[in-house]
Amino acid sequence: MDDPQLLRYSRHIMLDEIGIEGQQRLLDATVLIVGLGGLGSPAALYLAAGGVGRLLLADGDTVDLTNLQRQVIHTEDSVGVNKAESARQQLARMSPATQVEVIPARLDEASLDSLVARADVVLDCTDNYKTRHAINRACVQHRKPLVSGAALSFAGQLAVFDNRQAEAPCYHCLFPEQGDGGAQNCATFGVFSPLVGIIGTMQAAEAMKLLGEFGSPETGRFLMFDALKNDWQTLRLPRDPMCPVCGGKPRP
Ligand SMILES: [Zn+2]
Repeated sequence: MDDPQLLRYSRHIMLDEIGIEGQQRLLDATVLIVGLGGLGSPAALYLAAGGVGRLLLADGDTVDLTNLQRQVIHTEDSVGVNKAESARQQLARMSPATQVEVIPARLDEASLDSLVARADVVLDCTDNYKTRHAINRACVQHRKPLVSGAALSFAGQLAVFDNRQAEAPCYHCLFPEQGDGGAQNCATFGVFSPLVGIIGTMQAAEAMKLLGEFGSPETGRFLMFDALKNDWQTLRLPRDPMCPVCGGKPRP
């Protein structure tokens, strides 16, 4: 770390739990963010500001006026621009040293496979079950930690699946595939603007804890948040021994 970096990240470094070693681990890390919408916006901003060295940003959509109510990394100037590219432009203004790679496409299995292999932690910030399951399969296969977030209406969800652990449950253990493609999205149901900020920011926090090796990541727990009541509920996630994605495979 050079002097400007020591200064820039000094409020992290002075925390005993992080220190220079933890900050260096963040600087050396690569995070894949799939989806630069409501969850991916705050997650990308905090991961870049907090000093994660490299971000892989994947999104095939373009910014729409209806996104700006909650997707805070984008501006009116970015309407019509690819979301990953728009996010890159904003991050370049805030933190030019952060290496940002843009994947301006909806990810297929092959591209997911190569991107997940390069990442230290993966953030699922998407809004459909098909992509969520594809991300989960790649993370289980490559044994990469997956931080999953979801937000709809006033309800938020957060879960950390640490696929490095032999007995960790995966996303499929929690939400078996039902093949409906997942029509539950914000365009249909609406979503409370700050809710995506709360959940997306928590995804960034959990990713940084995993990367910096401090605190207790919410591994194997499922958090549900009710923004109307400001109420959190936590469930322990059991592994499904019959899970076709992680259950049948030995993970030594
Ligand atoms: Zn599983």
